[in-house]
Parts: sequence; structure tokens; C-alpha cells
Amino acid sequence: MNIILLGPPGAGKGTQAKLLVDERGMTQLSTGDMLREAKSSGTEMGHRVAEVMNRGELVTDEIVIGLIEEKLDAPHGNGFIFDGFPRTLAQADALGALLARHGQHLDAVIEMQVDDAALVERVTGRYTCANCGAVYHDRIKPAATAGVCDACGATQMVRRADDTEDALKQRLMEYYKKTSPLIGYYYAKGALYSVDGLAEIGIVSAAIRKVLDKT
Ligand code: ADP
Ligand code: ADP
Ligand code: ZN
Repeated sequence: MNIILLGPPGAGKGTQAKLLVDERGMTQLSTGDMLREAKSSGTEMGHRVAEVMNRGELVTDEIVIGLIEEKLDAPHGNGFIFDGFPRTLAQADALGALLARHGQHLDAVIEMQVDDAALVERVTGRYTCANCGAVYHDRIKPAATAGVCDACGATQMVRRADDTEDALKQRLMEYYKKTSPLIGYYYAKGALYSVDGLAEIGIVSAAIRKVLDKT
């Protein structure tokens, strides 16, 4: 089963993707994570994308499609969770073509509906484990022991350079201009399911489970 988690920055895509990986053995493909890896690897591509990301703009379709294409060749167990990809209509078309070439298709696109007002608090309070990527929040979901990852015990937590109020505004603008048309695109394909992303993490994951169990 291959699914897309769709929603603005801070909607909870990464949080839910990690839960699905644990529960269903699916493979999370986060272009944001891949780009942050490239950013810290010191490669030429990394330098090029760092500035764009820090400004809150989208990197080129060519780069992210290339990143995804590489991953589709690897064995993937119980299917892929596309997290933060596709973000443009061109990426959505490319994903359809890539999956078809691999004899695969999309089973569901899950739109996580949230109010913009909630996103500022979510994004500015976000931090993650540098080792395993577990996602936390200062107020809503702090690590049980401050500074220690609940999932893997590592003691280095990181905050993203683009998790500021200013960069979030730009990221939201990009979302509405370039990504939100995908809601109509996947609705027309009969693949769209919407869940209330404002609910508690456990309630959201139950809603997603319900969608996946009936598709
Ligand atoms: P969020 O968790 O806030 O939704 P991501 O971690 O998915 O953000 O992405 C962080 C940044 O990486 C984006 O603001 C953008 O610059 C870049 N990025 C990630 N995925 C894509 C994509 N599919 N297309 C273009 N740029 C992307
Ligand atoms: P995305 O990948 O869509 O950018 P994340 O999963 O990283 O979003 O979540 C953004 C922040 O909001 C994190 O700090 C996370 O702990 C928190 N969060 C995620 N889901 C919820 C939820 N349902 N209710 C409240 N906070 C949440
Ligand atoms: Zn960890």
C-alpha cells in the first residue's frame, strides 16, 4: 500500500508517518528529511538547497523528483508513505509515472486539515531527535525526560533553521500557491481522504488507520 500524507507545514505529517512505520512496517519517504541530509553533507547540491529551504521556498521539482526516484528502486516492505512529497502538480504527475513504471500505484492521499492559527505554535515549538528523527513539541509533546529521546535514548535534540515565524509565513504561502491544488487533483482521481489534523495525535492516527483499513 502506497500513501501520501498531504498538509501544510506543521500539520503532523512526520508524526503520523513515524507511527505508521512502527505499526505497519511501511517505509517513510520524507523529501524534507532527505534535503536536510543533503544540506548537512556539505555537497554542492546541499549548499544550493540550504538557502532556498531556510527562506521557506520550495526547491526545484527536478531535485526532489530525483531524490524520490532513487528510493523507489530499493525494497520497501509494506509500501511507501510519501511525506512532504509531492508539493507541486509537476511532482504529482512525476510520482504517478514513477510508480507506474515500478508496477505500483497510489492507494490513498490523506489530507490533514488544520487551521493556520495552530501552525505557528506547532512549528515554533517543534524539535526532533538528531539520531532517529522522533518528533517532539515543547508544550504538546515534550520528551519524557528533558533532552533524552523516548524512542532511542539519544541525547541530542535539534531544531530546524526554518521553524521560525517568518519562514513559516513563506512556507504557508508556498503551500497555498503550489501545493494546495493537489487536493483537487487527487480528489478528481478518487484518491482523496481528509482527516481532522487538529485533533490529538492519537485521534488523528485512529482516523488514518480507519481510512487505510477500508482502502
Ligand atoms: P514541513 O515538515 O514543514 O512540511 P518539510 O520538512 O517537508 O517541511 O520540508 C522542509 C523544506 O524542504 C520545504 O520548506 C522546502 O524548502 C523543502 N522541500 C521539502 N520537500 C519538498 C518538495 N517535495 N518540493 C520542494 N521542496 C521541498
Ligand atoms: P509536519 O511533518 O506536517 O511538518 P510534524 O509531525 O513535524 O508536522 O508536527 C509539527 C509539530 O506539531 C511537532 O512539534 C509535533 O510534535 C506537533 N504535533 C503533531 N501532531 C500534532 C497534533 N495532532 N496535535 C498537536 N500537536 C501535534
Ligand atoms: Zn531518537
